Amino acid sequence: MTAESIFRMVFWILVLSIVVFDRIIPALKAKKSGAKLRPDNETIKNEGRRLFAFRVMLGIILASFLGVYTFYPELTSRLQIHLPLGIRWFGVVIAAMGVIFWSCAQAVLDRNWSGNLKIQKGHKLVTAGPYGKIRHPIYAGTILWASGLALFTANVFFILMALLTIVFIFLRVTKEEKMLIEHFGDEYIEYMDTTGRYFPKFKHNK
Ligand code: SAH
Repeated sequence: MTAESIFRMVFWILVLSIVVFDRIIPALKAKKSGAKLRPDNETIKNEGRRLFAFRVMLGIILASFLGVYTFYPELTSRLQIHLPLGIRWFGVVIAAMGVIFWSCAQAVLDRNWSGNLKIQKGHKLVTAGPYGKIRHPIYAGTILWASGLALFTANVFFILMALLTIVFIFLRVTKEEKMLIEHFGDEYIEYMDTTGRYFPKFKHNK
């Protein structure tokens, strides 16, 4: 087995883990609890039309590329760059850490989670587990996952995807926090005082 085929196998394990643990299982749980996951006028307004369109476009480009990457690897191999093996294995480690972190945070957020920006019926502000230290552990996990994938695939497409994902998350977080402040008011503002966005805050404001 060549190193390249091992990286391809790891790639699918890490992509499928996200699909199963962070899309399918949460969607089934949400359905049971009555949470709404489909985008509607309200969620598009919360996210902003342009950012929503950007996300849909990224999803379509990613899905199309995955098809080519799987069935016509010789076409995508032209986008391959040389990276030392050590860096590629380091990418595997951070992508795996991203999956674990993302999945744990999503389990803690439970029925308050949604792929769209939404306040659910009976929405509670979660401050437990990783949310006690940082406000966006799922996005932090996503950034680790996408950056790790970029490093170990050593493919220009996934490097660009990782950069676009980071830009998307940075733009979305502002809108998400605005929505949460509007809903939770002082409770969220006080929560912001003691937590960081992606990294724990070591110095409290108070
Ligand atoms: N930004 C968070 C959650 C992403 S899922 C993270 O990265 O972990 C997006 C949904 O989570 C949004 O619809 C928002 O309503 C909800 N949300 C974000 N932070 C929350 C919190 N601390 N408690 C409850 N819901 C939250």
